[in-house]
Amino acid sequence: MMKFFNTLTRQKEEFEPAKPDKVGLYCCGPTVYNYAHIGNLRTYVFEDFLRRALEFNGYIVNHVMNITDVGHLTSDADEGEDKMKKGAEREKKTVWEIAEYYTQAFLEDMDRLNLLKPTAKPKATDHVEEMIDQIKQLEENGFTYIGENGNVYYDTSKFEHYKELGQLEKQESEAVARVEVDPNKKNPHDFVLWFVESKHGDQEMQWDSPWGRGFPGWHIECSAMSSRYLGDQFDIHCGGIDHIPVHHTNEIAQAEGASGKHPWVKYWMHGNFLVMKDKEKMAKSGENFLTIATLIQKGYDPMDYRYFCLQSHYRKELAFDWDGVDAARTGFRRLREKVMALGDTEGEIDQGYIDKFMDAISDDLNMPQALAMAWELMDDVSIKDADKLSTIKKMDTVLGLKLDEPIEFELPPQITQWILERNEARDNKDWAKADEIRDKIQESGKWIVKDGAGGTEVVPK
Ligand SMILES: [Zn+2]
Repeated sequence: MMKFFNTLTRQKEEFEPAKPDKVGLYCCGPTVYNYAHIGNLRTYVFEDFLRRALEFNGYIVNHVMNITDVGHLTSDADEGEDKMKKGAEREKKTVWEIAEYYTQAFLEDMDRLNLLKPTAKPKATDHVEEMIDQIKQLEENGFTYIGENGNVYYDTSKFEHYKELGQLEKQESEAVARVEVDPNKKNPHDFVLWFVESKHGDQEMQWDSPWGRGFPGWHIECSAMSSRYLGDQFDIHCGGIDHIPVHHTNEIAQAEGASGKHPWVKYWMHGNFLVMKDKEKMAKSGENFLTIATLIQKGYDPMDYRYFCLQSHYRKELAFDWDGVDAARTGFRRLREKVMALGDTEGEIDQGYIDKFMDAISDDLNMPQALAMAWELMDDVSIKDADKLSTIKKMDTVLGLKLDEPIEFELPPQITQWILERNEARDNKDWAKADEIRDKIQESGKWIVKDGAGGTEVVPK
């Protein structure tokens, strides 16, 4: 029996899906206006462990992740600029081009971190009709009103469960203080379901609706698309803890207000933050926005970061610094070397280890403990190599570390450029320049430069 900490009840609960062997899982996806920060990616790594742990327990998981390509303002509470528009202005592209480019970039990051592909990854712009339908349903059920600005608002005072997920009653003053006073709103927590043209006339993405031409609020997409792909009620909804008080609270209000069914989602699971250990130092060295490309540039394998995430429980804050990633990288390499040294003959799965591993992953996804089990197995001299190999491969279906595959590494574009320049310098017998470029490469990250028959070779340290 799996147990999860449910944000709704603030308790660890036994997991019982509505259907005995199938699980409906919805994960809030990226807003595709920029590269994903590794802090956001930590949440997707946690969700990947969850999906794999469920599958390890025999469930068939219907995993839906949305792609937000419209409607997300810089604040979750209807304030600030439109994120997509901001990205388009920054790069002098259309919002559609921005959406396409960063969706691809995100999927590539998922691949590099060995995250399983969701069963469905619907785009918000492909589902505006479903959003309009849900707003119409809410209107019919008496949950909406039109502000003086013409926008359609959700009247949170009409929904009795509004404050449950975020325990907003307890944190009332704090939560209200964060919400900007909008004279159009009847209650401080009310939020926009549909923005009309009058307010955002220069919005490139617009659709006709019963309330006028405009675009949807951010929250409506998740409740509309999850209902479309997973039904009126489903098992697990995930996201980062920052989504609890506004985005997920509003999603519940929309879904339950429209369908009249309670509870919409039985288990809510939230991943904690990645925090920078030395923010000031990181900012000074231009490292306040770390992406997978930053890791690659420095000579890390994105999988080093996966291992780094694995070492900490998803509900705890994870403190990031380069020493920590270095330690993870060393641990990961040592583990992979041990597995590679087992040879390739498989034997029998050691059930004792698998049981302990299963206990760990089923106990609210205790991945650090699961990883400790993998190490214990590798260091256990009483188990035959062939059996170890079969057992670790089974564990790796959850760890997702590709432990039995040789390490691949990706050369960043800058390094490739330097290699070309160095080969050219060597062809011209400009040894001083060749040495200078060699030093530049080695100082830029964890790279070693070697001179092979085909010229400069660069490998990770
Ligand atoms: Zn969402």
